[in-house]
Amino acid sequence: MSHATEVLSALPQHCKLCDCEAAAEPIAICERCLGPLEPTYPADRRYPGRDEIASRQQTIWRYREWLPFEGEPVLSLDTGFTPLVEAPRLAEKLGVARAWIKNDAVSHPTLSFKDRVVASALNAAHAFGLDTVGCASTGNLANAVAAQAARAGMKSWIFIPEDLEEGKILGTAIYGPNLVRVRGHYDDVNRLCAQLADRFGWGIVNVNLRGYYGEGSKTMAFEIAEQLGWRLPTAVVAPMAGGSLVTKLHKGFGEFIREGLVSGTAPRIYGAQASGCAPIVRLVERGEGPLVPEIPNTIARSIAIGNPADGPFASKVIRSTGGWAASVSDEALVDGIRLLAESTGIFTETAGGVTVAAALALAWAGAFKADDEVVLCITGNGLKTTDAIRNALPASPIVNAKVREVVALVEAVH
Ligand SMILES: *Cc1c(COP(=O)(O)O)cnc(C)c1O
Ligand SMILES: [Zn+2]
Repeated sequence: MSHATEVLSALPQHCKLCDCEAAAEPIAICERCLGPLEPTYPADRRYPGRDEIASRQQTIWRYREWLPFEGEPVLSLDTGFTPLVEAPRLAEKLGVARAWIKNDAVSHPTLSFKDRVVASALNAAHAFGLDTVGCASTGNLANAVAAQAARAGMKSWIFIPEDLEEGKILGTAIYGPNLVRVRGHYDDVNRLCAQLADRFGWGIVNVNLRGYYGEGSKTMAFEIAEQLGWRLPTAVVAPMAGGSLVTKLHKGFGEFIREGLVSGTAPRIYGAQASGCAPIVRLVERGEGPLVPEIPNTIARSIAIGNPADGPFASKVIRSTGGWAASVSDEALVDGIRLLAESTGIFTETAGGVTVAAALALAWAGAFKADDEVVLCITGNGLKTTDAIRNALPASPIVNAKVREVVALVEAVH
């Protein structure tokens, strides 16, 4: 594994439900039971210790033994290691001892946590010899696939719901992909892509490469633990779309505990959704039975998935950690965006507003204790969803370039 010359290959997979084995291939669904496939890590893999990890470059690849490959990664080598920012004023609002923002709003290269999963998926595509990649996206994934495929010299076919925010559309089109706007919701786009992957032999990162894609999310957990000084927080709040991120955060913390890199118990995981599309929150609240799909109706488009692939797993993980889930209105998420900006100096998109607002709602409902140490996963950048806050902010005064006009303004403020 550690030999710099070893050629990249992807790990084989197994079914998360029936455990049967599957080859290292662009396939993500068990042929026997239709369950999701996950990479199988070799039993004899040697994992690095704290010092060895710390000596490596500050990217997701410093944790490469926990990513689904043998040999050296070749693409998207610069992604990861976003700042973990302490947020004392937010901690006060939440009534907890300490709070931090894991700030993937400044992820390289496309300003959302999707850069992590795409870095992993594109290396899988490379290992499989695929020259064309794609995705079904609510926006951020489209940005990440288009940018990283462009850099890799791969062709890309990207499918998005027709009505996405302009920032998300332009932030994809600029990289020169084949960008297709589909009439319908994300769930329609996703179904279409499942059919296209087989037909053209493409690597659709969140469809037939999904097992390799999802593992990239674990690096957010690894970074949180390392950046806290090889410690675990007591609680983590994260937004949910397909439900993969919260599931993989838990898997990542568990893998670091297993290797003795951190001690203590796994953090309680709290999931956040917008009330206009909250099928996973409702499943957590019910506690049993199947997930009930919804038709999305929220401005939080990046997390508006009505029939989330990993929803049932996410719900189970959340409840097993002693965490919970909350949904918030569109008005509350706009307030959440403003609160994060005004208290912490970080401008997040709608999904981040959902996360902050849900954390507040959970705090008011008594989810946190006074000695809790809470990390909020902020997964996207506010400059991509400016429409959401345009009408919420006060108009700025316009003056002539005269001192006395500013004096009048200052006096009015006091
Ligand atoms: C995709 C996305 C998520 C969550 O993704 P999962 O499908 O639940 O892993 C969260 N925040 C943002 C901004 C996203 O784009
Ligand atoms: Zn199976």
